[in-house]
Amino acid sequence: MQDPGKILKSVFGFDSFRGKQQDIIRRLVDDQLPALVLMPTGGGKSLCYQIPALCFEGGTLVISPLIALMQDQADALRKRGVAASYINSTVSREDREKRVRQFIDGKLKLLYVTPERFRKPEFAEAIRMARIDLLAIDEAHCISEWGHDFRPDYSRIGEFRALIGNPLTLALTATATHEVQKDILKKLNLDPETTRIFSDGIRRENLKLEVAEVWDEKSRQELILSARNTYPGTGIIYFSLISTLEKFSHWLQSRGIPHLTYHGKLTDQHRKRVLRDFISGSDSLILATNAFGMGIDKPDIRFVIHAEVPGSPESYYQETGRAGRDGNPALCLLIYQQEDLETQHEFLRWANPDAGFYYRLYSLLAVSSLEVNAIGIDFLREQLHFKSKKDFRIETALGILDRFGVTAGSLEKRNLEIVADLPEELDDETYLKKKLDMDRKKLYAILSYVREDGCRRQFLESWFGYPDGKPCGQCDTCQSGSAG
Ligand code: ADP
Ligand code: MG
Repeated sequence: MQDPGKILKSVFGFDSFRGKQQDIIRRLVDDQLPALVLMPTGGGKSLCYQIPALCFEGGTLVISPLIALMQDQADALRKRGVAASYINSTVSREDREKRVRQFIDGKLKLLYVTPERFRKPEFAEAIRMARIDLLAIDEAHCISEWGHDFRPDYSRIGEFRALIGNPLTLALTATATHEVQKDILKKLNLDPETTRIFSDGIRRENLKLEVAEVWDEKSRQELILSARNTYPGTGIIYFSLISTLEKFSHWLQSRGIPHLTYHGKLTDQHRKRVLRDFISGSDSLILATNAFGMGIDKPDIRFVIHAEVPGSPESYYQETGRAGRDGNPALCLLIYQQEDLETQHEFLRWANPDAGFYYRLYSLLAVSSLEVNAIGIDFLREQLHFKSKKDFRIETALGILDRFGVTAGSLEKRNLEIVADLPEELDDETYLKKKLDMDRKKLYAILSYVREDGCRRQFLESWFGYPDGKPCGQCDTCQSGSAG
């Protein structure tokens, strides 16, 4: 068996391991025992399974929800001479079959797959013929219903894992509260006694946390420009609403400030292009909704500004974690305007349609699929009697139906169709209510963060289950002397 330290140098060209990488790799390669890794974004999680993959004789299966990034990762590995490939919905059926075959034949060391593959029994049946020495689950927080990025397909991983013979497993994520950590182990069927949790804590010394309250649009705009002048370089500005994002974009345009935009109304292709421009560009400014960012590896992001209040500490931490991966100072500024709270409250309502709504939408899709695909979302709006343009329950519910595998295709491609029954959860008022309550609790937590007069970093750390940290000395409250 090859030595991990040698692989680090010869394949990846790095001189030393970072943080807990070596311990994690030892755990897998030497002890053959499972682990859950909590490491901030940019910390170097990929090496924790890529190096073991090269040590083991059999293959390593990597599950990741990020279509755009898995291709980049596989390409980067191939450039280093590692046999790696990927399977997702952008790959033709023929190529998918070919890659599975190569994996079974032991010709691929790593195969990246998206979780929606588990919807196909043929996939599991085929893949179980391969020798799988390691199962790596990236963005593992997506498995938990209490996480902010729940993906129902991820909940099938436990089942899938059993089907392929419960191989050695490594779960990785940047953010997981204690509740979510427990949930990850439970859903994967990993024994809490033998699964070691590696955690770096969540402290990122170079990130300066700030909150600013504004009363009108003009001061918000000015604040953003001045933050950008203080932290020149690449930056992300997050918005909750596409409409606010677009307004801000027009305003920047009128001032001749170049920027990119990224949100759910753009086509997949367009978004892919923007993502590539952003990654390869320097000094790029991007306005984005939370559709943007998971897994983005750009080291020199100098600021992450939330122009509107985000919905939870989890998403806030995850989104700010994209700043300053190179270790140099970066700003994480949250701008709070009281009206945004109303937006978030409405958001909560619309992000949590009730059971009756799911049922009505489901029935409509089942009965009128021709009209739905011909006319699009306006047809659904009209039929479901929606007056408010801002009410995006239909979009939410369509997204959820897709995540649960109830529908296939999309309105955009005019091939949306029902392929499964409504799952129990979406017909269960108690479950849906519990989800809404949980979302409310998170929103209140982010408000407490805004109002916090102690150290902001300590506040976030204790939310994520690390209550013992010292004040950071760098956030606005620490510096104004009100913390401590
Ligand atoms: P994560 O998945 O935790 O967000 P990545 O695995 O994408 O992070 O790694 C982030 C960056 O850090 C990558 O560019 C990677 O090459 C680099 N990196 C990882 N480990 C090391 C190391 N030991 N030495 C130097 N650079 C590293
Ligand atoms: Mg990663």
